[in-house]
Amino acid sequence: MKKTASPVLLDVIIVGGGPAGLSAALVLGRCRRRAIVFDAGHPRNEASRALHGYLTRDGISPADFLKIGREQLAPYDTIELRHVNVVDVARGDRRFTATVEGGEQISARMLLLATGLVDELPQIKEFLRFYGVTAHTCPYCDGWEHRDQPLAVVGDDKEAADLALELLLWSKDVVLCTNGAPECGRDVLNPMERNGVRIIDAPIARLDGTGSKLERIHFRDGTQIARTALFFSPGQHQRSHLAEQLGCEFCEDGCIQCGENAATSVPGVYAAGNASRGVQLVIAAAAEGMQAAFAINTALLEADAARGKVLETAAAGEK
Ligand SMILES: Cc1cc2nc3c(=O)[nH]c(=O)nc-3n(C[C@H](O)[C@H](O)[C@H](O)COP(=O)(O)OP(=O)(O)OC[C@H]3O[C@@H](n4cnc5c(N)ncnc54)[C@H](O)[C@@H]3O)c2cc1C
Repeated sequence: MKKTASPVLLDVIIVGGGPAGLSAALVLGRCRRRAIVFDAGHPRNEASRALHGYLTRDGISPADFLKIGREQLAPYDTIELRHVNVVDVARGDRRFTATVEGGEQISARMLLLATGLVDELPQIKEFLRFYGVTAHTCPYCDGWEHRDQPLAVVGDDKEAADLALELLLWSKDVVLCTNGAPECGRDVLNPMERNGVRIIDAPIARLDGTGSKLERIHFRDGTQIARTALFFSPGQHQRSHLAEQLGCEFCEDGCIQCGENAATSVPGVYAAGNASRGVQLVIAAAAEGMQAAFAINTALLEADAARGKVLETAAAGEK
């Protein structure tokens, strides 16, 4: 791979152009910071058709939401968007150098990782047909659309049991399908049965329905139940290896560890959105991007003020 380095030193490289990264870019653009957003184009909710719970945008398609976000960055002439994967980031003396697919290199003083997570999907026949439309991870995102319907939770651990109990807020008819002998014990299962959740431990053979609309779950013992939606609590991992490559510390749950101001354990590296926080909603990711941008701008300002170089580094100081 041929490497071509740009001589320009930007203020911030943002890796990830989902809600967190775009929101950070908006704040940095408004501060006239020179930033570039690299986005490979695989947001976590790409399988979904409607984004819920974002005030003013409830029900919009996730793709349209991001399109509006990108369009609203257009007036900010210090912000550049690139649809490309970042394959490597090197930390040098007061700079980070990102290498993108194809070999081009871009350097900046600060780095924001807004790279998101990947959900680990259940290995069930036909699952992908329903994922994002009638098979969901989050009742806050998609519970309302399936209120008062016959629902299933697929999973055998405590998270799945908790999700089944939670779903009773949306429907009285919730079945927990443990897909074989459950991992959790009676102490977890008993409260569910007391609250009206039925438990089926037969292994699942396949899902069945019309198009992406779930209608039935078939079990290997030949039985079946009618369900119009299922929920599951997925395992997750970081979408990008960059935080690990840079030596960032991680929380027990696999999120990038960072403080209130979004700074990671590596100086100059910030993290925002699902990659770093527990509340995995779009509006929260956007807010975290904004907070990270605020912290980055403040850190840049403080560093420049100490050296008497604020005007030299600000876009306002350019001829
Ligand atoms: C099926 C589904 C439905 C959902 N529905 C809702 C909902 O209705 N409401 C809601 O609030 N939340 C919903 N969510 C959660 C929502 O998707 C996340 O909260 C949100 O996407 C997190 O935003 P983010 O910016 O942190 O990460 P993401 O949206 O995942 O964006 C990260 C971006 O970074 C890019 N990237 C990663 N690594 C690199 C790299 N090395 N180089 C370049 N680019 C890179 C990725 O390709 C991606 O485009 C849903 C999630 C799922 C799975």
